[in-house]
Amino acid sequence: MPYNKDLYSTPYYKEPGPKLDKESPFESMMERFRFAAELLQLEDGMFQYLSSPTRQVITSIPVEMDNGEIRVFEGYRVIHNNVLGPSKGGLRYSPDVTLDEVNALAAWMTWKCAVVNVPFGGAKGAIKCNPKELSLKELERVTRRYTANMLEVFGPEQDIPAPDMNTNEQVMAWIMDTYCMHSRKSDTAVVTGKPLLIGGSRGRKEATGRGVVTLVLAALNKLGMSPVGCKVVIQGFGNVGTISAKLLYEQGSRIIGISDISGGYYNPDGIDIPKAIEYSTANKGSLEGFKDADPISNERLLELECDVLIPAAKEDQINRHNAPNIKAKIIAEGANGPITASADQMLDSMGILIIPDILANAGGVTVSYFEWVQDRQGYFWTEERVNRRLNRMMRSAFQLIFEVKEQYNITLRQAAYVYAIRKVADTLRLRGIYG
Ligand code: NAD
Repeated sequence: MPYNKDLYSTPYYKEPGPKLDKESPFESMMERFRFAAELLQLEDGMFQYLSSPTRQVITSIPVEMDNGEIRVFEGYRVIHNNVLGPSKGGLRYSPDVTLDEVNALAAWMTWKCAVVNVPFGGAKGAIKCNPKELSLKELERVTRRYTANMLEVFGPEQDIPAPDMNTNEQVMAWIMDTYCMHSRKSDTAVVTGKPLLIGGSRGRKEATGRGVVTLVLAALNKLGMSPVGCKVVIQGFGNVGTISAKLLYEQGSRIIGISDISGGYYNPDGIDIPKAIEYSTANKGSLEGFKDADPISNERLLELECDVLIPAAKEDQINRHNAPNIKAKIIAEGANGPITASADQMLDSMGILIIPDILANAGGVTVSYFEWVQDRQGYFWTEERVNRRLNRMMRSAFQLIFEVKEQYNITLRQAAYVYAIRKVADTLRLRGIYG
């Protein structure tokens, strides 16, 4: 039986208001999920199963602050689905995070893992806190107590956190250590994105940007274009943005625009990327005052005429207001959700090839998978091996999704959702419903 529209009354789905400028990540995800479900004629039960999280944990985290006071933080962990394997997903620290947002991000992880064929389900965790207001010791106590509260949830074969917004290698090290103290074993595979010294993987930090570039090269190839001399614009100059810029620069592409929170920088002859990275590194991660390019607003930067546009900053950057002004041939979504669902349709009708986030930025989770494999084997790979295998998996995922796109005559994003949802649904049918 095809899926039933009434299921949109599910508490996890909110109908967007008619005048909304900002579309929530969950609304965007559900709109794309519904399209794929319709195409696959997903039965009602399966639709309901795949749009509801398997498990949601809300926990109170009491912490003694440096001044002796006790504060209680709220923490979440949502396992959206674990049919394909142990669930995998980042942990973010943010003062305004909500359970709804965590639900959306967890579902996104399920589709992302399925798209790149890593044997993981999807999850996401969060703590409602502002890490800028916490001392290092307080941050450690918050992290360790959250981990202790999640001992039954986390595990190398159950649920594996990784860094996300405002968390890093150090936070992962504390989680691993707390978990191991309780398990009385060296369970390094309980988290990924760890420091190299305690079981992290070579190439993990660069993996997302490297994956983005592998897919940009594959897309250029499909369109019969060469990376040499091709004009590239990149929004966001953090981890994903700088690595994408550096690798495309090394391919001979002309990076004509870059930006960060301080604004945009434009040079039609091409920006010297190693110089820009050096400048930003010396300037506490900011391009502010960068002189080798003309200043330009972040809005105008997105509208520059170029071959490849890589939004690698944050969500909702290309929406129905600015979509008609986009002049790129290819957009690779380095960030999660940078294009809203309504802009998607406009860009598609303009003939722009969009490499969707669940495919484009899946290099990070792919090398997280490699880290987990290495930890479990106790055998660590060279960076060259990590990069080679990453490139192979990303290229093969691109090819598979491209075939689905051609088969149904749909967009790459729709194809990625169709592929992922079909894979999880087929696996569930094989396993069956227990009970
Ligand atoms: P980051 O914090 O290292 O960098 C973010 C960059 O975006 C910074 O340069 C910041 O100044 C810039 N920025 C913020 N707001 C901006 C704005 N309004 N206009 C222009 N620039 C702005 O973050 P990151 O790790 O590079 O992640 C970027 C995006 O990629 C996020 O959406 C993240 O969820 C996604 N992502 C990251 C990874 C990863 O492995 N790092 C993996 C998958 C997805």
